[in-house]
Amino acid sequence: MIPQSFIQDLLARVDIVDVVGKYVQLKKGGANFSGLCPFHNEKSPSFTVSPTKQFYHCFGCGAHGTSIGFLMEYSGLNFVEAVKDLALNNGMVVPDDDKMLPAQRAEVTAKSLALSEVMTKASDYYKQQLRGAEAAIAYLKKRGLSGEIAARFGLGYAPDAWDSLRTVFADYSASALVEAGMVIDRSDEDGAHRQRYDRFRERIMFPIRNTKGQVIGFGGRILDQGEPKYLNSPETPLYQKGLELYGLFEARQAIRDAGYVLVTEGYMDVVALAQLGFPQAVATLGTACTSTHVQKLLRQTDHVIFSFDGDNAGRRAARRALDACLSQVNDNKNIKFLFLPKEHDPDSFVRTYGAEAFAQEVQSAMPLSQFFLKEVSGDSDLNTAEGRAKTQFDAKPLLQQMAPSGLRLQLVRGLASLTQSTASEIEALFELVQPVARIKLAPPRSKRSAPVGLERQVLRILVTHPSLSMQVTPAMLDDAAKLAPDGAHMLIQLLGLAQGMGEQANFAALAEALRMTGSDFDPLIAEIAEQTESDINVVAIELAGAMRQIRSQVLKSEMESLASQGLRLPEDIARYREIMQLQDGLRRQAEQEAAGR
Ligand SMILES: [Zn+2]
Repeated sequence: MIPQSFIQDLLARVDIVDVVGKYVQLKKGGANFSGLCPFHNEKSPSFTVSPTKQFYHCFGCGAHGTSIGFLMEYSGLNFVEAVKDLALNNGMVVPDDDKMLPAQRAEVTAKSLALSEVMTKASDYYKQQLRGAEAAIAYLKKRGLSGEIAARFGLGYAPDAWDSLRTVFADYSASALVEAGMVIDRSDEDGAHRQRYDRFRERIMFPIRNTKGQVIGFGGRILDQGEPKYLNSPETPLYQKGLELYGLFEARQAIRDAGYVLVTEGYMDVVALAQLGFPQAVATLGTACTSTHVQKLLRQTDHVIFSFDGDNAGRRAARRALDACLSQVNDNKNIKFLFLPKEHDPDSFVRTYGAEAFAQEVQSAMPLSQFFLKEVSGDSDLNTAEGRAKTQFDAKPLLQQMAPSGLRLQLVRGLASLTQSTASEIEALFELVQPVARIKLAPPRSKRSAPVGLERQVLRILVTHPSLSMQVTPAMLDDAAKLAPDGAHMLIQLLGLAQGMGEQANFAALAEALRMTGSDFDPLIAEIAEQTESDINVVAIELAGAMRQIRSQVLKSEMESLASQGLRLPEDIARYREIMQLQDGLRRQAEQEAAGR
């Protein structure tokens, strides 16, 4: 369970225009942004994003939601994954358990901000150092890199000194420098002689950026023959290599333009390919491709091509990538594997045979289905029963991670014909989960009647502007309960959430909180998503008016009930008179307010 307050902080920090804008080209028009809806096919834009509401809405298909909802719907993430993804891209750490106090959480957030600042400062420093570093510039030139490409990737240089970062950071002993992985601390046994030094020395520096463009780590390549050739930042709270792809931030537009992404083995490949006219390349960072990587890539494009060096390490990496893909791929995705000749990496291949030959290789890369069959049958003799059984044995774990899909069926068929079996034999043998017809369960029928009239108006106002919930007094709630017990139930639920959020309560955060509570509010949220922005001051007056009308209706029904009993007791008569005065008072208030406007 992620605490509600964290969701609220997160939604206050992110801007839905940025979140959606990564995937949908948005144009500003009036108060809102609009673009082509990613959830249905359309030629003219009916998809809108409201910065004030922090909500999106499509007038074509009715899709709507917050930043979190968008990521869930667009990328197929679950709620927790979407929250983590957003948090990660905004330098926030999702609290692991809800026992974490707000103060602790604030500390965690502050820390990641501090680390982020360290990385930015260091990156600026290295970039500036590159200007005067002749040997480094000579090296980049030798690799054929222009100044423009170096600038696009923010390349820098870490000087040949043990503590050059001392000139950038006033407090070289700050713990953030170690936590960010920029400085190594080697203390004596007794801790008496502390020794600190820069992790990166005499290296070309490749800043690793997250999808927001913030520097979260570095890769450093040595200039000469020293070891290690490549040195990366260690994992830090900002940087987890199993999640990040080098060059993704820089390549996003190019990936969209090219219609595919090229996944390479290292950052030098990415930079060299960009120089040679293939800016749609990214790289994993000294680690095998993970399913998170694949998921990230498939969010940018439906077409992923892995390019591996022709050596044994490249083959192994390709196999790992295949494993990572199977749980993520579905029928409208296209994944291919490109194997270069043994002695080549993408850079050397393009230099030897030219860009056109490389583009040709990319086009004719091996489809996933083919690579799959090749891998599983690789070292088996298909002319023997044992060899065919071994092939099936090797394929089993791979097919089992796939969701039921057309592609899985094709792989099963391919395997069946390769191993003299039938598709249904293999499905039975592997106990493959069959696609369940997706029965869309009707939402549980609410026993309560949907609120109408005044109570609906009040609910709508409070959902749109939850900060106004502070104006709702217990007496007003009592009135609402007398007037319409069903609507009051929703009102109480709503007030509980909204008042808990305090002054900063807003529509998006409330919509997320209501998501958990069931479907009572869904129609209302859909309705509000469609509406144009409303001025909170005007709405506050509207709310007061609605509350007054509720009060007045309650009083009216009390009068009617007293009258129907014949007004025989003196206290009944007194109460009747009192109500008449109260009603007058309400009318006067309304008149004054109308005059004051
Ligand atoms: Zn739509």
